[in-house]
Amino acid sequence: MTGNAIEIEGLTKTYAASGSQPPKEALKGIDLDIPAGSIFGLLGPNGAGKSTLINIMAGLVLKTRGKVSIWGFDQDVNPRQSRASIGVMPQELNIDPFFTPRAALEVQAGLYGVPKSQRITDRVLKAIGLEDKADAYARNLSGGMRRRLLLGKALVHRPQVLVLDEPTAGVDIELRQMLWANIRRLNEEMGTTIILTTHYLEEAQEMCGEIAIINHGELIARDSTSALIGRMDAKTLVIQPEGEVASLPEMPGPVESCLRPDGSLCFTYRRSEIGTGAVIEAVRNAGISIGDVATEEPNLEDVFVALTSSKTAA
Ligand code: ADP
Ligand code: MG
Repeated sequence: MTGNAIEIEGLTKTYAASGSQPPKEALKGIDLDIPAGSIFGLLGPNGAGKSTLINIMAGLVLKTRGKVSIWGFDQDVNPRQSRASIGVMPQELNIDPFFTPRAALEVQAGLYGVPKSQRITDRVLKAIGLEDKADAYARNLSGGMRRRLLLGKALVHRPQVLVLDEPTAGVDIELRQMLWANIRRLNEEMGTTIILTTHYLEEAQEMCGEIAIINHGELIARDSTSALIGRMDAKTLVIQPEGEVASLPEMPGPVESCLRPDGSLCFTYRRSEIGTGAVIEAVRNAGISIGDVATEEPNLEDVFVALTSSKTAA
C-alpha cells in the first residue's frame, strides 16, 4: 500500500467513572495519519493517552467517538479486516505461564483464524530467538524471553501494521538491540509499518523517521524527527580557552554565559537571535585566545521537554 497505514479522525475516549474515580477523558479529539512503511514514534509523558490510542487501533479498547481506519479498513465498517491488519505487542506482560512458546503462538494464530497450513510458527520462533525454548513452559522463561514471545504473538497473522507499546521498557541493552534489529528487519524486508511508544527518546530519535507527541489526550506535535529537532532554536557553544579566564566576556546580544568547572566557557543562545560567528568574535575581542570550540545541538529530549512542560509551547 502507498499512502496511509492508519487514518484517525476526531478520536475521543472517555473512560467511565468507577467507584470514587470520576470519568476520565483520555483522548480529546485526535487527528493523525501514519504513512505506510514508516517507523513511527508516538511519544508523550505517562498518562498522556498513548496506550489508550494504541489499544483503540488494535480493537482492544472501544472508542467513544471518531473514525479509525487500519490499512484502509474503517473499524466500524470492516472490523474483521481492520483487526487482521494490525498486531500489537502490549505494554503488560500477559503470558499464560502454562503454555509453551510454540503453543502460545499456535493459540494466537487460531484466534486470528490463520489456517493450520498457513501458520508460520517456526519462522516466528526463529525470528524472536526462542527456537530452543519452543517447548519449555512459559513460566520458566526469563523476563526478556517473555517479551520476545509477546512480539512473536503480535506477528502470527503477518500484520501489515505492527504496534509496540513501550517494547524496551525495563529490558536490558542486549535484548533491546535484538528487538530493534528484528523490528528494523521487518520494516525493511517485509515493508511492515511500525508504530511504537518509548520512554527512551534517544531510541525514538534514532529509530523513527516521524514522530507524534501527545500530552493530556491531545496531539501537540507531529512532524519528521529532524524537523522537530530543527524547531529547537537553542544552541550551546563551548569554548576551551588557552590559559585561564577570570571573567566572562561581554556579549553583543541575549546570550547566557557560564564558566564550567573544567575551565571551559559556555554560551547558550537562540540561533534566530544571534550568530555563532558573533559569539566567537566577542570572545576574541575580550582578549581570550581560543584553544578549542565545540557545539551542543538540541536533541529530541529538549523538544519533548519544551513541548510537554508548557501547553503554549506548541
Ligand atoms: P499512557 O500510555 O500515555 O501512559 P494511558 O493511555 O495508559 O496513558 O492513560 C491515559 C489516561 O487514561 C490516564 O489518566 C489513565 O489513568 C487513564 N486510564 C487508562 N486506562 C483506564 C481505564 N481502564 N479506566 C479508567 N482510566 C483509565
Ligand atoms: Mg502506556
